[in-house]
Amino acid sequence: MQQTQETLRRVRNFVGGIWEDADGLETEAVYDPATGKVIAQSPLSTYQDVDRAVKAAQAAFSGWAATPVVKRTQILFRLKMLMEEHFEELRDLVTLENGKDAKDAAGEVRRGIEVVEFACGMPTLLMGETVRDVASGIDNASYRYPLGVVAAITPFNFPCMVPLWTLPIAIGAGNTYILKPSERTPLSAQRLGELLMEAGLPEGVFNIVNGAKEAVNAILEHPGIKALSFVGSQPVAEHVYRVGCAHGKRVQALAGAKNAMIAMPDAVLERAVPNIISSAYGNAGERCLAGSVLIAVGTEEEQERLIEKVKKAASEMKVGPGYEEGSELTPLIRDSHREKVRGYVDLAEEEGAEVVLDGRVPPREEGFFFGPTILDKVTEKMRVAREEIFGPVLSVVRVGTLDEAIEFTNASPFGNACSIYTESGSAVRHFREHVEAGMLGVNVGVAAPMAFFPFNGIKKSFYGDLHATGKDGVRFFTENKVQITRWLS
Ligand code: NAD
Repeated sequence: MQQTQETLRRVRNFVGGIWEDADGLETEAVYDPATGKVIAQSPLSTYQDVDRAVKAAQAAFSGWAATPVVKRTQILFRLKMLMEEHFEELRDLVTLENGKDAKDAAGEVRRGIEVVEFACGMPTLLMGETVRDVASGIDNASYRYPLGVVAAITPFNFPCMVPLWTLPIAIGAGNTYILKPSERTPLSAQRLGELLMEAGLPEGVFNIVNGAKEAVNAILEHPGIKALSFVGSQPVAEHVYRVGCAHGKRVQALAGAKNAMIAMPDAVLERAVPNIISSAYGNAGERCLAGSVLIAVGTEEEQERLIEKVKKAASEMKVGPGYEEGSELTPLIRDSHREKVRGYVDLAEEEGAEVVLDGRVPPREEGFFFGPTILDKVTEKMRVAREEIFGPVLSVVRVGTLDEAIEFTNASPFGNACSIYTESGSAVRHFREHVEAGMLGVNVGVAAPMAFFPFNGIKKSFYGDLHATGKDGVRFFTENKVQITRWLS
């Protein structure tokens, strides 16, 4: 695959079926992270832009909610076909704006399509419940209804998949929807908007408002928006949850992470090590499910054996642009983020960790690359053990027993995911019963649930009650009416 981008892409808002320029005159540059070149300008929308999108979505709501669910899902079936038809184009767009390699980008688009497929089952998913004869001649039943206008605010690291965690479910259930994509990666959302129109979605059912903080705060405050799904970093998730709830909205906020991978002495290293490497360094560590802490359990000799293998594999990774065949370690999203990651490695050194593999010297001249990095002998007190770095930096913690590994993991404020590498069923059971994380991997380093399960972070990795995707996702975007009936004649 070759990057062919030559002209600046125009990013526009999509309101009531029309592509329009934002009122906000300020813009934020969008980069190809592999070259550091500007490829587009993202408009920074204002309250007025959000308000127009809300009005368009409100105008479309009654017609869309009254459209039979089997007709609504026909559009989702068409979207699925169009996404398959344009699969490679969508994949390359993700690589262009985010930087990840073609395999990861293809995985992202595939995961997004799977949510569309899940939402195609909306006639079944929307089924209510009934109990006949709750008293003599009296029946009780429940029906599911859409909420109205809903919104999603999404992060840079999965510009195609994360909007699709909610979009097909929300509109399949009869809501109208406003997307505020990351200002750093707005291009995939534009293409999704075009494909939805091609699929025959009525105007105003799906809208895009580009922007950053100002647009987010307008969404939080706007009285016309009933529910809000946020995915992003922990401090912003907490802000969105608090302010959104204070404005009477239903909010789910998926937040940051610090995921541990626990390697037991009986782990099958030939299979486990490539898996650990791919979890820690895939997408340059910019995944909320990335394993960023490796807990080596066992004797010093067992720990050394594991760490040597991990170090060798990490140091052999091919650093390069996502659109170059064979690239394994791709760039970070921005130079400013690279500085932040570098700062964490400096801090680790000051705190007493051993930098056994050092990626601080940029491995390529252009772009935002950071080399694979391993910090050994990380302890509980170090900030690098607790804070999300979101880069290709693996912290290694050495402990003697599984219980110590679990204790270390549970001291984290986050609870997104945790993996264990072992062949022991009893160790797995002990791990599952005691570890505080919402997504568990057994010999799987990226414990991503399928679309029909919830994306299940806990602790400070999630704010709310109902998670995204699966039946939780359907419940989040609907409300019930419960009817009790008696016929008198
Ligand atoms: P971010 O928090 O910087 O941005 C997310 C969204 O919030 C963007 O749309 C952005 O415009 C908006 N935003 C940013 N700062 C804001 C502010 N001060 N006020 C209001 N809105 C603001 O996150 P990011 O850097 O784009 O994404 C990476 C983060 O997302 C990581 O922490 C990662 O763990 C997390 N993430 C979590 C999940 C999950 O499922 N838990 C999934 C993907 C990413």
